This record gives sequence, C-alpha cells and structure tokens, in this order.
Amino acid sequence: MPNAYDVVVIGAGTGGYVAAIRCAQLGKKVAVVEKQRALGGTCLIWGCIPTKALLEHAHALKVIRDAREWGVTIPAGTPAIDMGQVQTRKDRIVTALTKGIEFLFKKNKIDWIKGTARLAGKGRIEVVEGEKQTLDAKEIIVATGSAARGVSGIEIDHKRIITSDEAISLRELPTSLIIMGSGAVGVEFASIYRRVGAEVTIVELLPRLVPIEDDAVSAELEKSFKKQGIKALTGTRVTKAVPGASGVDVEAQTPDGKMQQLSADLLLVATGRAPVTAGLGAEEAGVKIENGYVKVDEMYRTSVPNVSAIGDVITLGTGSHPQLAHVSSAEGIVVAERLAGQDVRPINYDHVPSCTYCDPEIGSVGLTEAEARAKGYDVRIGTFPFGVLGRAKMAGESEGFVKIVADKKYDEVLGVHMIGPRSTELVAEAVLALRLECTVEELIRTIHAHPTFSEAVGEAAHATHGAAIHL
Ligand SMILES: Cc1cc2nc3c(=O)[nH]c(=O)nc-3n(C[C@H](O)[C@H](O)[C@H](O)COP(=O)(O)OP(=O)(O)OC[C@H]3O[C@@H](n4cnc5c(N)ncnc54)[C@H](O)[C@@H]3O)c2cc1C
Repeated sequence: MPNAYDVVVIGAGTGGYVAAIRCAQLGKKVAVVEKQRALGGTCLIWGCIPTKALLEHAHALKVIRDAREWGVTIPAGTPAIDMGQVQTRKDRIVTALTKGIEFLFKKNKIDWIKGTARLAGKGRIEVVEGEKQTLDAKEIIVATGSAARGVSGIEIDHKRIITSDEAISLRELPTSLIIMGSGAVGVEFASIYRRVGAEVTIVELLPRLVPIEDDAVSAELEKSFKKQGIKALTGTRVTKAVPGASGVDVEAQTPDGKMQQLSADLLLVATGRAPVTAGLGAEEAGVKIENGYVKVDEMYRTSVPNVSAIGDVITLGTGSHPQLAHVSSAEGIVVAERLAGQDVRPINYDHVPSCTYCDPEIGSVGLTEAEARAKGYDVRIGTFPFGVLGRAKMAGESEGFVKIVADKKYDEVLGVHMIGPRSTELVAEAVLALRLECTVEELIRTIHAHPTFSEAVGEAAHATHGAAIHL
C-alpha cells in the first residue's frame, strides 16, 4: 500500500524531524506530515535560529561601534543598522537550514506530506488540508510543538502588541519596546533591540530577571542590563495594554501596589508557550490530555498504544517539562530507538543544559545553590570571574563568572551556572561533568587550555576547594 508506513510523525520541528531521521536510519519506512511551507518548526523558522541570527547582528554592531578601541578607523558618521539587510541575511540562514532538512529527508527516503494531520484512530492519520489523504501507520509520533501564549486581559493584535513571531521580523526599528516576561525569549529580545538603539523596558512579575536561573546569575544580568540602559521592573504585573495608532499604553502594578503608566512603540508579550493540539483529534482518538499537553510516560508513550509524543507538546506529569529544541530532539531519538527495539534509558532532565543568548550569555545545568540547599545538601560554592582571564581581556568581554555548586560530603558537582562570554558553549563541559557524576577534584585535575574562556570553569573548580590560582 503506498500510504502505509512503519512510522508517521506529525510535525517537523526539532522533535519530529530528528525522530523521523533516526527512525529511517534504523530501517523504518517513515512519513512526516508538516503543515508549514518549510521543515524545521519553531526552532528554525521563528525561534532559536532567527533570534540567534539577530543577536549576531547586534553583536556585530557593538564591535563596529567600539572600532576605535580595536584600532580600526571608520570614516565619519555613526555606524547604523540596516534592518532590511539584517532581515535578508537572517532569512537566508533560515532558508539554508530548512532546505538542509529537506535534503536529509531525501537522503533518508522520508516522505514529507504537506498538510495538517488528524488522528483518526486505529493507526490511521487523515491529512485534512494540503495533500489530503489517509495514511496507515504501525506507529505514530505526535510532535506538534507549541505556539506563543498570551496572557488573560492582554489582547495580542500582532501590530502594537506582538509575540516573538513578529519580533523576529521587524523591518522598521522601534524607538521603544516594552517586554513582558524575562525568561530566555524576553531577555534575548531585550539584548537585540537595545543594541540596535531602542529604549527597552522589561516588566517581570517575579522578583528577579531570568527567574529559573541561580540568584547570582539574575543579579549579574540585572547589573549588566542596567549598565546597558535596559530598564527592568521586577515584581511588577502588567494589568492593561491599550494599542493605539502610533504606540501602546501599558499600565503596570509595582511591588508596593502603585500603578505605573508606561508607553512604547511596541509591547512584546514573552510569557511562555502553549502546546499545539487544536484540530489534532487527540482526545477523540483516546489520547489523554493534561492541562492542554499530551500526557506521556518516561518513554513518551501516550495513553493510546502505538501513539507516542515528544517535544513542546508533552507533559510527563512530573512538574514543568523544558520546552527546548535539544530536549525535543533527544526525546525523538529515544522514541525512535525504542520503536526499533533498542534498550534505551529514560532521559535525566536534571542534566539538560539551559542556554540564554542575551548579552551577557547564560549557560547553566543542574541544581542552583538555592535548590541544592532546599534538598538538604551541605553545599560548597566556588566562583571565578571571567574578567581575570587573559582571553576575556583580549576579547573585551570581561563581565560575569562561573559558579559551581557542589556537595561537601562527596565532592560531587551538583550544578554549574555561568554568565559571561561563550557561556552557552562552555556549559557543555559542565553537562558532561554532571552526566558522569564528576567530583570537583576531577574538574580540578582536568587540564584547561590557556588562554581560553574555559579556564574559568577550571578555576571555579579550584575556587570550590578554596584554591583558585588567579584570585
Ligand atoms: C523566540 C524563540 C527562541 C527560542 N530559542 C531557543 C533556543 O535558543 N534554544 C532552544 O533549545 N530552544 C529555543 N526555543 C524553543 C524551541 O524552538 C522549541 O523548544 C522547539 O522548537 C520544540 O520543538 P518541537 O518539535 O516540539 O515543536 P515545534 O518546533 O513547535 O514544531 C512543531 C511542528 O508541528 C507542526 N504541526 C503542528 N500541528 C500539526 C498538524 N496537526 N499537522 C501537521 N503539522 C503540524 C507545526 O507546523 C510545527 O512545524 C525558542 C523558541 C522561541 C519561540
């Protein structure tokens, strides 16, 4: 039967496309149903890739503005950003990557069926829009992802009150921007638009920026943002937003209960993402939904046999599930290998790195100091500032630090938290350290090349034993 497959994946985001490729590598006949005109999902089209491309542009502008410091002479006139060229380059990068997945699908003989999929029960999938047809599958993987979530009482009009979907594509620079929420998405856009000259105000309901990070990281980011002219109103709730012809008026309640009036060209709502299950027919097909998410077990099995789910759309029912590209891909690989009969272990979510590409960057893994203390560990802390390193001085990037949280009794590394240059790269060593249940002593004996940013990790380990060399 031409429409019969071993595996049909619904959604070609970083969860779905990776699951499909791994299934094909393991000998399965695979189809992916994707309703967008390109493969790659949120990460490639609206998320990780476009935002990081914009951040690279913002960084380029920073370096050019500091030309004199680098001994580079630029003819008179202030360097300015051309948003048309920025968007063209960003789109070129996105297209190259999405086309790259199309190539991988062809290489692995995966069929891309363009349309919207609906679970029709008993291993059937109906493609209800686009290339309409019915597919038969021995196994189905739901990877329908997430979409920007609004906040009750704040109506997103996509013009003055926008989400990240619009913020990645602005061709005209806003002179001012209010950002609601200071998670990864909120602070990354704050860095992008401040660097290119906008007045940026972040309004965060919780008492500190990047609230899931270690307290020390939040404090360092707040200090740096203040220096850069980014205004942060923490402990503050947006209560009203009214769009007008030329801007948006925002009302916010500060921690002392007072109302504050703000106005800007745009309000970016960056308060999280909601799972996408609308039109999927999940509940009709018997798939259990919990708070809007597809409920799965630790091997990503849903309540219906032969239907698995991965990525942003799932809940494991054990607290919040990280909505990250690398998590969705790791889950896709686990499912593919389970379906191929391999002996595969559940993912340890305590070892998932969290990277935020604001300026300065943040990379972290494992327990924060507060979490380790709350769990009853006798905690030992070691911190080393990047500013001391030769490499950081050369790069002109000396903000931030590496902080290690360790258990005094067994010397085990429990968490590593860094803010500063290359933190999103340096965290990889910390992830491996946690994965291998490394001790601080082992990190100390690991030789870090000189001169590198990675010396900050080695020195933080030394500092944890009270023996940093360069402090
Ligand atoms: C601005 C922003 C920046 C981000 N930056 C990062 C980052 O730097 N690092 C990181 O790790 N994560 C980042 N993320 C999060 C990351 O993008 C997501 O965690 C990741 O894309 C989730 O992958 P997924 O496969 O679960 O779902 P998605 O990528 O959302 O893909 C789901 C796909 O399913 C398709 N689909 C849905 N329903 C159907 C249907 N019924 N039929 C057919 N197709 C359907 C959709 O069109 C979509 O293509 C960012 C997100 C945003 C919004």
